[in-house]
This record gives sequence, structure tokens and C-alpha cells, in this order.
Amino acid sequence: MDREEIKVLLASEGPAMKSLLQRAQDVKFKYLDNYVHLRGLIEYGNVCEKNCLYCGLRSGNGKVERYCLSDEEVLECARLAHELGYGSVALQSGERSDPEFIDKIEYLVREIKKIDGGSLGITLSLGEQSEETYRRWFQAGAHRYLLRIESSSEELYYKIHPKNAKHSFQHRLDCLESLKSIGYQTGTGVMVGLPFQTLDHLADDLLFFQKMDVAMVGIGPYIPHPDTPLYRFKDLVPSAKERMDMTLKMIAVLRIMMPEINMVAATANQTVDPQGREKAIAAGANVIMPNLTPGEYRESYFIYPDKACVKDMPDQCKSCLDIRLAAIGHKILYNAWGDSVAFTKKAR
Ligand code: SAH
Ligand code: SF4
Repeated sequence: MDREEIKVLLASEGPAMKSLLQRAQDVKFKYLDNYVHLRGLIEYGNVCEKNCLYCGLRSGNGKVERYCLSDEEVLECARLAHELGYGSVALQSGERSDPEFIDKIEYLVREIKKIDGGSLGITLSLGEQSEETYRRWFQAGAHRYLLRIESSSEELYYKIHPKNAKHSFQHRLDCLESLKSIGYQTGTGVMVGLPFQTLDHLADDLLFFQKMDVAMVGIGPYIPHPDTPLYRFKDLVPSAKERMDMTLKMIAVLRIMMPEINMVAATANQTVDPQGREKAIAAGANVIMPNLTPGEYRESYFIYPDKACVKDMPDQCKSCLDIRLAAIGHKILYNAWGDSVAFTKKAR
């Protein structure tokens, strides 16, 4: 598909949009069946060295109470993921590059790998790091890494990030290349509905994912956070329904373009629409990240307001997901890593 064809699909409404979503679901069923993979999400800490203009965890936000989970808390979450049959965990946090953090993550990855003889898959989402750090964590046992480009347009990137050495678009691209060359299943993604974002930007984002030949993508709506600088442009942000619909169309078009990649139904979908996650699955996504972070920390991982499932307990979450997914003709594949088929085929 070229940019113009993609734009036509992204602009579709009513019956045309419905048929796009159906086509994407058909493609997914053909290549990946109706399975959904789970990653138990562990929000490791909210200390962040960066100042992204949209995110509540930015270092400039003095209103956040900062935390970091203890080793035992992380391992408890990982054991719980294993007991619940999730198959994989995802460790996410604000960005830190101090040696203590780097050593700690390496240690935790090794410890998680010891659970039941290495039965859990591990995804990391810990921001931009040096190639050496990425390699150390890979050698410790992590095999997937999520680093959203946030926007593939350099111009838009600098409208949502401060323009300084710590927030370099080029460095983010370099990180994605390092991750790929080390051998990670590399994931990226964007937010939908950012102020100043156009249909051209969104179409280019999809072409970027294809050109980068990534194994995984996470696309989710932008949610304005009152304690961040980008909030002053909230009047430029499309309505919740528009952001939801555009996210679904982005997922659907990408599923048609890249039939075998893993695509996350982001929790942010559920913030803009109570059925958002299931809608994303029905439109072509195949991964869900249920939250395993201990209850007392969840409200401090305040990336954006009104995060869904903040009060859910993990076992409730599991049965809730089983029911919600069965209702739309999908089923969870328990006790499996659920690797990206696109990646695994290439590796062979
Ligand atoms: N620090 C790491 C991981 C945590 S942030 C990183 O930045 O990669 C994880 C994701 O949350 C980001 O990639 C971003 O796309 C998303 N995010 C941040 N603020 C958001 C907001 N206001 N609305 C929606 N998503 C947001
Ligand atoms: Fe930090 Fe990630 Fe939020 Fe940026 S998006 S401020 S790096 S947690």
C-alpha cells in the first residue's frame, strides 16, 4: 500500500470503516488464528530522567510520588504471572540510565528466568539505553523490547518532546536499530490523536513500521494529562470517539500490511472506551498486557489520567479477560511465550 491508499483507508467511516475492520480480522484469523497472548505487566518504577511533554512521569512533574519496586515485589509479580499461566511478563518503567538501575534490571531478568526453568518470556520497555546495556539485558534472558517512536515524523516528534540531547529523534532511531541487531524481537509504536498530528503523519507511521520491519507494534490513543506541558493544546485533540476510531483503523490497516506481527491492544484504549481493548483485538491486535503491579503503586504509575483497571486484582482480571474475549470469538493462549510469528519465521 502506498501513502495515498493508506490515507483513504484511515479516512473511512461508517460501512467502509466497518468493512476495513472486518478485513483486518479475517487477515489475522488466516495468519494467526484467534489467539490472544498475554504479558503480565510489571510497572517497575516511575522515576524518569526524561521530560516528554505528554507523560505524567516526566521528571519535571513535581506532583508524583516516586517509587521503585523491591526485588521481592518484582519476583512475586513474575511468579504470579507464571501461576496464572500468562507465559510472559513485561517489565516497564520510567527511563533511568544509572549503573545501579542497569545492574538491577540484569539481575531481575536473570532471577525471573530461574522461575520454573526459564518458562516465562520477558519483554522489556525501559526506554533508550546504550547498545551495551541492551546487550547485557538480552544476554541475561530478555528477548523482546518495546520502544515506541511516538511519532515517526521528526517535526512532530519535537513538538511533543523538548528539543535537547536527552530527547533526540535520531538517538531513538539508533536505539531501535541496536535492538534489532542484537536480536531482540523489537517493537515500536505511536500515540494517536496528538495535537498537530495529521493523516499524513499517521500514514507515514504505518509505512515506517513496515520499513523498519519490526516484530511488534503498539498503537494507542493519546490521553491528555493535566500536569504536563502538552495539555495546553488539549483543544487540538480529537474527541475520545475519534481517537478510538482512528486507533482501530491504524491497527486494521497495519494488520493488512504486516499480517504476522504482534500487535498490542493498549490499555489506553480502555480509557477512551470501556470496550476499547476488545475493539482493538477485534480490529487486528493479538496481545494484551494485564497489570500485575501491586495495588499500592498503581496510582503512582500515572502516565495518563483515568487509567483503566487500576483497581483490578490479577485473578479477577484473568476471568474478566477470558469472558470478554470469548464474547468476540477469541481465546487466550495460556502457558506460551506467544512470540511474533513474523520474527520467528525470519529467524529460521
Ligand atoms: N519510559 C519508557 C516506558 C514507559 S512510557 C518509554 O518511554 O519508552 C510507555 C508509553 O506510554 C510511551 O511509549 C508512550 O507512548 C505512552 N504514553 C505516555 N504518555 C501518554 C499519554 N499521555 N497518553 C497515552 N500514552 C502515553
Ligand atoms: Fe519518561 Fe517514558 Fe514518560 Fe517519556 S514516556 S517521560 S521516557 S516514562
